[in-house]
Amino acid sequence: MRRLVIAGNWKMNKTPSETKAFLEALKPVVAGKDNCDIVCCVPATNLAIAVETAKGSNIKIGAQNVHFAKSGAYTGETSADMLVDLGVEYVIIGHSERRQYFAETDETVNARVKAALEAGLKVILCVGELEKERDQGITAEILGKQTKVDLLDVTAEQMKNVIIAYEPVWAIGTGKTATNEQADEACGVVRAVVAELYGKRVADETIVQYGGSMNAKNCADLLKCENVDGGLIGGASLKTEDFGIIVDAAQ
Ligand code: PEP
Repeated sequence: MRRLVIAGNWKMNKTPSETKAFLEALKPVVAGKDNCDIVCCVPATNLAIAVETAKGSNIKIGAQNVHFAKSGAYTGETSADMLVDLGVEYVIIGHSERRQYFAETDETVNARVKAALEAGLKVILCVGELEKERDQGITAEILGKQTKVDLLDVTAEQMKNVIIAYEPVWAIGTGKTATNEQADEACGVVRAVVAELYGKRVADETIVQYGGSMNAKNCADLLKCENVDGGLIGGASLKTEDFGIIVDAAQ
């Protein structure tokens, strides 16, 4: 049995003081809900207060990006060691917004994944097709290419710390959710690629989340899908009540 992971991607939302207030409010909502892992991926400025506020609770804190170099002349960037030193446990890598607005490629995503794993972080690696790619019938090829290049030189042992989030780009922030069948099928494709790379045992143990307009209403059905091991949630992770309902559905 794979453990479900419910992760919120706050994107560029909430100040440090709003982060503290939100997590204080979320703690009692999710207390004792230990049948899934709960992660809040907050903006870089909020990581320290988030780690501090979540201490002693079942909420884990993640970042939304990490640089691939250990240190150096990369103005504005954050290294994996900096995140680990803060007490951050997870990092989202390769989110479609990073690929779209910040020119990230599968090659830079792969470099970030390796740097994060080497530093001891757990990675939430995002893959997903564009709407025109789905319309063209090449979703499986796109997911295969992204998964293979993004995981190049990642070992089977390191895969224990890799979660893959299948996020169809057309469903992110649009209110257009993949159907249960589409989500299950695509998460299954990702798992099959992991099996091709690392064998069935690793594939069976790898957590593959669905992300893309998951919310309090559609989460229960999506989370029932055989290949869907949790969610990466944007908009609905910003409200304690909605996020709490999604955590409940994962129980
Ligand atoms: C995301 O940001 O990864 C995401 C899935 O966003 P939303 O839930 O708002 O579609």
